[in-house]
Amino acid sequence: ASKQRLLVVANRLPVSAVRRDDDSWHLEISVGGLVSALLGVKEFETRWIGWAGVNVPDEIGQKTLIKALAEKRCIPVFLDEEIVHQYYNGYCNNILWPLFHYLGLPQEDRLATTRSFQSQFDAYKKANEMFAAVVNEHYVEGDVVWCHDYHLMFLPKCLKDSNRNMKVGWFLHTPFPSSEIHRTLPSRTQLLRSVLAADLVGFHTYDYARHFVSACTRILGLEGTPEGVEDQGKLTRVAAFPIGIDSDRFIRALELPQVQDHMKELKERFAGRKVMLGVDRLDMIKGLPQKILAFEKFLEENPQWRDKVVLLQIAVPTRTDVPEYQRLTSQVHEIVGRINGRFGTLTTVPIHHLDRSLDFHSLCALYAVTDVALVTSLRDGMNLVSYEFVACQASKKGVLILSEFAGAAQSLGAGAILVNPWNVTEVASSIGYALNMPADEREKRHHHNFVHVTSHTSQEWAATFVSELNDTIVEAQLRT
Ligand code: UDP
Repeated sequence: ASKQRLLVVANRLPVSAVRRDDDSWHLEISVGGLVSALLGVKEFETRWIGWAGVNVPDEIGQKTLIKALAEKRCIPVFLDEEIVHQYYNGYCNNILWPLFHYLGLPQEDRLATTRSFQSQFDAYKKANEMFAAVVNEHYVEGDVVWCHDYHLMFLPKCLKDSNRNMKVGWFLHTPFPSSEIHRTLPSRTQLLRSVLAADLVGFHTYDYARHFVSACTRILGLEGTPEGVEDQGKLTRVAAFPIGIDSDRFIRALELPQVQDHMKELKERFAGRKVMLGVDRLDMIKGLPQKILAFEKFLEENPQWRDKVVLLQIAVPTRTDVPEYQRLTSQVHEIVGRINGRFGTLTTVPIHHLDRSLDFHSLCALYAVTDVALVTSLRDGMNLVSYEFVACQASKKGVLILSEFAGAAQSLGAGAILVNPWNVTEVASSIGYALNMPADEREKRHHHNFVHVTSHTSQEWAATFVSELNDTIVEAQLRT
C-alpha cells in the first residue's frame, strides 16, 4: 500500500530561497525543531507548504522557484511585501506573539497597534486564504493536513469551508494564554471559531490546552468536555502533545572529532572555572535582563566565586529592525558592561556575551562542557534549548536551572531546579545551589531528564499527533 500523504503547512518553509539571477535559485535547508521532527517520521509521505521568505513578484521567478522547491518536496505560497508587512510583522509578531506570551506593549506601540488592528487582521485573513488556496490546489483525497502555529489560526476554517471532509489538525508552538488575556483581542471570537473548525487541536502542555478550552466556553459559550470542545454535537478534539528533540542527532554529534576538539579547547580556555550557559534568541520572552541581574546578585553575595565561574550567554539576534528589540539589546549590553566593569579583572570577565548564532557543532560542544545551564524565560511555549542541553550532558551531568514559565518545566521539572525568573533572589540562590550540588544529586537529576529527553523525541511527537488525528476522524464517523 502507498503511504498516507501528510501536508505540513507552516508560515515558513524549511528552506530559504535566495535568487541567483532571473531564473535560478539557491536553496538553503534550515533544520529547525519542526523539520527534524518530521524527518524522522517515515510512515508518511510529507510535503511542505509555506512562504519561502522572499518576495517574488514576477512570473518567471515564481515558476522557477516552484520547480526548484519541488525537489525538496516544498510548495511555496507567494505573499507580496504589503501582505507580509501587515500579516507577518503586524498581526503575527506585534499582536499575537506578545499577547500569547503575556507581554505588555510599550504605550506608544499600543495605541499605534489599536489603530492599525483592523487592517492587520484583514491582511492576516487574506494571507491565511492564500495558504488555503495552495493547500486546495495540492490536496488529494485521504491526505492529512497539519497546520502549524499562531500564523495560521484562520486556516482550519478556510480549509473546512472548501472541503468539510478534509482531515485537518492544528498545533500551536507558543503558549495559549489565560482566557482573560485572549478576551482582550478584538478578533477573539473569529480566531477561536476558525481554530475549532479543525478536527484535532494540539498544544505543548495541558495548561495551554485548558486555557484554550476555557476561552471557548467563556467567550463562545460552548461546552468543554474532557475530550475537547463541543458545538451542537460536533466535537473538536483538544489535547496536549509536548514536542521533543531529535536527541540522537545531538548525541551523535558529540562523537565527531571536530566537536571533540572544540570541547577540548573550551575546557582549556575555562580551566579552573565553572561554566554557566545561556542560549536564547534576544527576545523579551527570554528574560535576559532578569537572568543577568540574578547572576550579578550571585557574584555580589558570593565573593569566593567571582574568579571561579563564567557565564557564557549566546544571544541570537532576532527582529533587529523593531525598536523594542533594539531597546532590549542596548539594555542587555548596558547591564553586561556594568557587571563586567564591576567584577572583571585585567585578564578575565564574568560574562561573555555574544550577539550572534552558533553553528550546530559549536553549540553541541558548548552544551557538553557546561556545568550549569540557565533558562529564565518569562514565558516560553516549550524551550528546546533545555532539552538540547540535557541531551549533550551524558558525561558531565550538569545542572539545569529552568523557568517555571517555560513549557519544558512540565516535563523536566523533576530533574531541573525550577525558578521564578522574576525573583532575582531565588535565581541567585539557585545558582549557588547548582554550583555546589554534590555529584550523586546531579547524577540523579540528570538521569531523570535524560531518560525523558531521549524517550520523548520529536519523531514520536509528530507520529503521535498524526495518528491521533486519524483516530479522531474514525471516532467522529462512528458517532454519526
Ligand atoms: N539555536 C541555533 N543556533 C544558535 C542558538 C540556538 O540553531 O546559535 C537553536 C537551538 O538549537 C534551538 C533553537 O535555536 O533548537 C531555539 O529553540 P527554543 O525552543 O529554545 O526557542 P525559540 O527560539 O524557538 O523561542
